[in-house]
Amino acid sequence: MPAHRPRILVVDDSRIQLEWLVKVLEKEAYLVDRAADGREAIRKVRSDPPDLVLLDMVLPDMDGLEVLRFVKARPEDQFIPVIILSVRSDLDSKVTGLRIGADDFLAKPFAEAEILARCAAMLRIKSLQDQLRETQRKLAEQAITDDLTGLKNRRAFDERLEEEFRRAQRYADPVSLIMIDLDHFKQVNDRFGHPFGDVVLRGSAEQLRASTREPDICARYGGEEFAVILPKTHLQGALSVGERIWRELGARRYPLPAGAGDASDDPAGLQVTASIGIAFYPSKDIGSPELLVKYADEALYQAKRAGRNTICLYQAQAYRYDVPSR
Ligand code: GH3
Ligand code: MG
Ligand code: MG
Repeated sequence: MPAHRPRILVVDDSRIQLEWLVKVLEKEAYLVDRAADGREAIRKVRSDPPDLVLLDMVLPDMDGLEVLRFVKARPEDQFIPVIILSVRSDLDSKVTGLRIGADDFLAKPFAEAEILARCAAMLRIKSLQDQLRETQRKLAEQAITDDLTGLKNRRAFDERLEEEFRRAQRYADPVSLIMIDLDHFKQVNDRFGHPFGDVVLRGSAEQLRASTREPDICARYGGEEFAVILPKTHLQGALSVGERIWRELGARRYPLPAGAGDASDDPAGLQVTASIGIAFYPSKDIGSPELLVKYADEALYQAKRAGRNTICLYQAQAYRYDVPSR
């Protein structure tokens, strides 16, 4: 049984039949909603999808099959079972109903015990389906998430960068990339232990998220290296975000583990600076997402060579203009 009280929508234009069904189902502690015609049924399924629909085939405003088609063709991926209420002799609508995707049939006149048994069976399947979808959703999420920091992982980064780059090319939009590498991080691990290093990585990830906006894509590129994709962002915007990240990352304090550190360590906590490289599109030489990464990485190594705790920007070198021959 699902954790919540299952919600059943009964669609029937016969008032007597509808109320009788509702009474039978409510006795079983189901939450029951009613619809007296096809339009009302569709509206209710759309605005507040039930766990199960009992659907009469003959409705005043449309064929029950149309309602069935709507329920089964919804773009949202959650499964809503439909039990068709039909007259025993109505073979045609049974066959068509099955083709469209009805899950079961109940033949009039109904026996109370049979209705309840079939509803319970359908709701069991619905509940299993929901669990399966939830598991799939979690797995899909896990596959693109970095375990330690909760940021996007390398695989998700590659995919998103490809998408954003192609979009930028198609719409002549800019896109920028910021690569961030923590400075002397090996020493942090060496002095205070790997678990403390992990705390710093998690804190840095949290800071990255706080220093960027919703559309920006923050990823752990590897080890102690992070990347931020800035869709629709020019050089100027990328520089200001890069600077904010650099300032806020470097200002963060990580309280040392009890008993760790010495007189040279600030009692307020350890600060870890970052070196940052920025590249952007459109730029000369940058015609693919891989090149955007390559040049942001080059800028990052330039920042390391320049003494760390700084920002470098990739800029294409001046290039010779090929004058047309006279
Ligand atoms: P630089 O300023 O040149 O970047 O020096 P660095 O020490 O930061 O760079 P280096 O590449 O020499 O060392 C990176 C360190 O990051 C080494 C590695 O053990 C550590 N590291 C990578 N992944 C993790 C992790 O998941 N957890 C922890 N605690 N450390 C990690
Ligand atoms: Mg480093
Ligand atoms: Mg590194």
